[in-house]
Amino acid sequence: MKRTPQSQTPADGDARRAIKPVICYPVDTLPPPDMTAYAAARQSMELTNVVVVPPREAKTFRVPGGHFFRIVSVEGPQVGDLNLWAAKDLSERFYSGKTRALHGTHLSTGDRMWSGFPHMRPMATITHDTLDWYGFDTDGGSVHDVIGTRCDPYTNRLLSGQDYHHCCHSNLIRALATETGLPLHQAEAHVHDVLNVFMCTGFTHDTHQYFMKASPVRPGDYLECFAEIDLLGALSTCPGGDCSTAHSSDAAACYPLRVEIHRPDPKALVGWAPPTPSAYSRSHGSGGV
Ligand SMILES: [Zn+2]
Repeated sequence: MKRTPQSQTPADGDARRAIKPVICYPVDTLPPPDMTAYAAARQSMELTNVVVVPPREAKTFRVPGGHFFRIVSVEGPQVGDLNLWAAKDLSERFYSGKTRALHGTHLSTGDRMWSGFPHMRPMATITHDTLDWYGFDTDGGSVHDVIGTRCDPYTNRLLSGQDYHHCCHSNLIRALATETGLPLHQAEAHVHDVLNVFMCTGFTHDTHQYFMKASPVRPGDYLECFAEIDLLGALSTCPGGDCSTAHSSDAAACYPLRVEIHRPDPKALVGWAPPTPSAYSRSHGSGGV
């Protein structure tokens, strides 16, 4: 929200505003994902594992590099909050902010989920999105955002004075603690900003505040990714359900989400190799490492 301006517009104010924007991070220099190879690999894939996430909970799942995973809507419209880590190193995790800087506010087929520094490599590539027809609506909303963070008990406490224990942040912590054996407080340090799967969000035209509206997802819809490295994932079924009204409470109707792991024929992956971490020296101008 912006206050009423207290400073006078300078004489050349309109001219300054009229300067054309430039893209901060042009991605033309990035090697494009080989979508033809992924499409061929998809033809041979077989379902190897299914994890069902109950409403207002989270579950972890493991995906070997070179496999696909799908997040599938079942029973009713439901939003999911996704965290990703390198399977053997929780310090390498999904970097929502830099993914947003590279690919924009919402992800779809061909976009990649990048890990944070110093690794900074694609952890997963989106290979199919049954909601890609949605595009951007007249409110500026779209699906699968990397602009929200995850609902959490701290913001809820701040704004409502109430405690609620099934926010996505808490669900993800409990799931990671169960998977790793870490105490809750240690697991919490590894939970990070999410990909908001199936969530329909944007910024309001007038105040540029983060908004949500009913997800267009329906049972049978799915978001599918190719795991570029061995992954540990965690998915929370948001207590907001389809996020049409409220979250951080038991008020909304919530449904399960299904995670499917699919293995393609290894012969279909000839030419693919897990991406290597960033080659930056990490000297940061000091002359050493
Ligand atoms: Zn949530």
